[in-house]
Amino acid sequence: MKSQSIYSSLLLCILTFTHFLTISAELCIDFPNPSKPYERVAVECPPTQNNDSYVKRETTNFFRVYHTCNSNAALCNKIKIAFDDAGKEISKVLKLKQIIYVKATFANFYPQIFLGAADSTRYIPLTSDDKIIRRYPQALVKQFSLDVHPAYNDFDIYALFNSAYDWWFRTDDETIKYNQYDFYSVVLHELIHGLGFASSWSNNLENSVNQDTTGLTPTYSFYGFYGNQFTGFTERIFDRYVKFMRNSVVSTSTYYTYQLNEAVPSGTPFNTNSEFVTEVKSSPQWKFAEYAFESATTNYSLYFSPAKDTSWNEHIYLESGLQPYDQGSSISHVSKIYELTEDFLMTHSSDPGVTLEYLIQKGGNYKSPIGPRILSVLESMGYETDAYPNPIKPTYEY
Ligand SMILES: [Zn+2]
Repeated sequence: MKSQSIYSSLLLCILTFTHFLTISAELCIDFPNPSKPYERVAVECPPTQNNDSYVKRETTNFFRVYHTCNSNAALCNKIKIAFDDAGKEISKVLKLKQIIYVKATFANFYPQIFLGAADSTRYIPLTSDDKIIRRYPQALVKQFSLDVHPAYNDFDIYALFNSAYDWWFRTDDETIKYNQYDFYSVVLHELIHGLGFASSWSNNLENSVNQDTTGLTPTYSFYGFYGNQFTGFTERIFDRYVKFMRNSVVSTSTYYTYQLNEAVPSGTPFNTNSEFVTEVKSSPQWKFAEYAFESATTNYSLYFSPAKDTSWNEHIYLESGLQPYDQGSSISHVSKIYELTEDFLMTHSSDPGVTLEYLIQKGGNYKSPIGPRILSVLESMGYETDAYPNPIKPTYEY
């Protein structure tokens, strides 16, 4: 065995010291499985020099999809075409600047009962223009072209599609059957989630200790390097525009997040997660989690209030009518009341036997399946469009 040289010991010291410095910085949150949004991992994402290459403006599809397809070649080919069409449609309405990398898996996820599931692989902390740190979906962070950015994951979006269902493809050239789902429509829907159309508010806190849901919180995490250190509740950029209504009083997600962060100081060590949950729930601030839960399960009590001058200037009701609360569906969709509008695409469920084309024509020949409310949500978060060329950009303080 060869022993370590003095030089390498010194290098190790430097590395350890750097590690110590970055640990206090905000952490990124990774989501390794989009069908299990409660599985999240806090990771370090140190400052990294931007080396994104220039992408030609004429590019018609900014999505590069890596497929894992557990089916026959003919079906897998239809899946690829549907992804290609969806990538082109989104690239038409958003002025993207950087390629978005998607890892897509088509497999039998039975008994899980989702058609498709997708999420940003990483949520990255940046400072919004109101000086509050929020987490941004990686695909969006890339579009900001920051000179230095927190380290990225290899893929921007993970997407799963369930082969347990009977799918219809536009390329089939036959009428959709009563029990078939339009694959293209579900791909578009899921990619938009992957772009960050997803709230951080969830029942993970009580879920993690198998307790019934009484309150919701934004994403929280522990960091394990020095024991179970609580690193605070942090909302996503989507949540910046989310408002909770209760007894006619409107409160912002940002205000509730601020209040919940008063429950336990960030950096507090805990021996176990369950100790942490007990402490948060016994604090006077827990009532804000209860209020959020109440709004998220009461119709017309939760809405997205878009940034000024985006494609839609009124409140957009979010899904708050589901009983019981459903982490994958509540909050992170537009309300079912928009089912027959241009924004049907981002309601939480789709019916079998109906194609996207049919819904577009029936509603009045919309010019895109991505309606103005959906666009407005994406624009508010920071995506650029023709109608909204100067989105609000965050900064990276490192
Ligand atoms: Zn969805």
